[in-house]
Amino acid sequence: MILITGGTGYIGAHVALECMVRGEEVLILDNLCNSQRSAIDRISVLAGKRPGFIFGDVRNRRLLDSVLRDYPIDAVVHCAGLKAVGESVREPLRYYNTNVGGSVVLCQAMAQAGIFRLVFSSSATVYGDCTCMPINESCATGQPTNPYGMSKLMCENVMKSVASSDPRWSIGLLRYFNPIGAHASGLLGEAPTSTPNNLLPYLLQVALGERRALAVFGNDYPTPDGTGVRDYIHVEDLALGHIRALDALRDRRGVSLWNLGTGRGYSVLDVVKAFEKVSGIPIPLNVEARRPGDIACCWADPQKSIEELGWQARHGLEKMLADAWRWQCNQHKRDEVRKAN
Ligand code: NAD
Ligand code: UDP
Repeated sequence: MILITGGTGYIGAHVALECMVRGEEVLILDNLCNSQRSAIDRISVLAGKRPGFIFGDVRNRRLLDSVLRDYPIDAVVHCAGLKAVGESVREPLRYYNTNVGGSVVLCQAMAQAGIFRLVFSSSATVYGDCTCMPINESCATGQPTNPYGMSKLMCENVMKSVASSDPRWSIGLLRYFNPIGAHASGLLGEAPTSTPNNLLPYLLQVALGERRALAVFGNDYPTPDGTGVRDYIHVEDLALGHIRALDALRDRRGVSLWNLGTGRGYSVLDVVKAFEKVSGIPIPLNVEARRPGDIACCWADPQKSIEELGWQARHGLEKMLADAWRWQCNQHKRDEVRKAN
């Protein structure tokens, strides 16, 4: 059985579903601070059976001890955490407490229970403003420009130390590039509860008419069209990367680093153009100043993941955007029905 912390969230729900589709038993632990219990119903519809669910906090050591004792868990995927960059600047202690504190407690409880296979949701943000492009796993980690990024780097360092202290550990640090998209069914996707920070959720709200225009943060970067370039990856491809990592970790010890990206970069304007093509909806733009802390370019060298995990992203930008749009329209319809009742 696989324990997925944060398994009702955007990425965790896709990982849970992918594990279940492959015949694994899944137990989700989530405190629902940024997700909803209804994600369990939607995973169940798609998987044809229900995952286990524990409502609780990953920092609760007593809860984790009992979960790891009472269920036949043999590996953990740790997605639970806080992820809003701007919020992390305003509330750094909450971010360090949840992200770093949660990882420490989880590792303690796992060691106590004799469970040593762990996959962690890390981020390309740990590379900071990396000058080598594409970025491979031997590029040095940089200086993340905000507490969220720092917390991810700290979690990685905690896990590296833990793995060097006891040879039984087998830990995969998955450095996600920019996950977007949604499940092709339109039933699982990202549902931000407040004003979105990231490009895609913001763009989708503009497309729905909920916001007037998309702010383009800077058109004077040293990139082909002046806007920031990122490696967007379909969340279903990302989820599959976790399955491959869980498998690969059976035969590995220590810490393994894997980039989960496509290896292709797209600018903000590329994304907008592709979205307009897929949806037929024009997106009004406002060019604004650069967002503090943003870097010009970031895309992955996925070669190590291809060789060691046999994993490669399959979906292109248009498919990511079409799936995201389908999910957003379904969400919108659900919200309208809820308001009408
Ligand atoms: P999300 O907010 O949708 O999911 C995170 C889940 O963790 C939520 O369901 C939330 O309720 C839960 N959670 C938060 N704190 C918790 C706690 N203390 N105890 C139990 N549950 C808790 O975010 P996501 O996009 O699915 O991200 C998952 C992980 O991937 C996060 O660790 C995030 O930092 C990392 N990550 C995300 C991205 C991205 O762009 N989405 C990129 C890189 C890394
Ligand atoms: N971006 C933008 N407008 C927005 C949000 C993001 O122009 O409303 C740009 C941002 O400057 C970056 C790219 O879109 O170049 C991706 O930003 P996002 O926040 O989605 O991801 P990250 O910065 O974490 O890579």
